Amino acid sequence: MAVNIEKYNEIRKELGRVTLVAVSKTKPNEDIQELYDLGQRDFGENYVQELVDKQAVLPKDIRWHFIGHLQTNKVKYIAPFVHLIHGVDSFKLLQEINKQGAKHDRIIDCLLQVHIAQEETKFGMDETELEEALAATAGLSHVRVCGLMGMASFSEDQAKVRNEFRQLKKLFDKIREWPVVNAEWTLLSMGMSGDYAIAVEEGSTLVRIGSLVFGARIYPDKGI
Ligand SMILES: *Cc1c(COP(=O)(O)O)cnc(C)c1O
Repeated sequence: MAVNIEKYNEIRKELGRVTLVAVSKTKPNEDIQELYDLGQRDFGENYVQELVDKQAVLPKDIRWHFIGHLQTNKVKYIAPFVHLIHGVDSFKLLQEINKQGAKHDRIIDCLLQVHIAQEETKFGMDETELEEALAATAGLSHVRVCGLMGMASFSEDQAKVRNEFRQLKKLFDKIREWPVVNAEWTLLSMGMSGDYAIAVEEGSTLVRIGSLVFGARIYPDKGI
């Protein structure tokens, strides 16, 4: 399975100033290196062990984004190097990230995940939880909350997807006015292979694209 360089260049051009996080989960190091050689530096992974293994051998100036559901007991493995943690969905997790950040003498940038899809399966906070988490974060000196992340419904209904992204952008803008927010409140992570164009139109600053660039993922355990 090869990297689709043509598609990659096309997306880069199309995105302009929007950051492309190339989602390399399940993909081999050679594929990552191939994009790296073209200048790509932001890569996203969603399994801790896989991320740790890749980080150890790939170029050190890669900015690794953790985009999956992060368990509290695994923060310590990625804390030394992770560039941005996208899917923070509890204050307890923020506290742990803060603790590990302190251990490594760094401030770890995070995004809070918001539940925007109508589907039950997606993780994320609601507005009240966000407000509480942000207020409490003021006391944490080794984590910096830089914005929001959300996943739209996996749906053919473009109007529905657009509406979910629009709600997230609205919330993002609204929170910017809250006194608890710091000056780094600048990042809105929304959009994947199937819906990134809509996400960008609705104000995304970071898209997370995997299969369009790297090809379909093969999960050995599912045999497909
Ligand atoms: C896998 C994944 C992506 C990329 O998905 P594609 O549809 O392959 O672009 C984006 N965001 C998250 C949170 C993911 O887990």
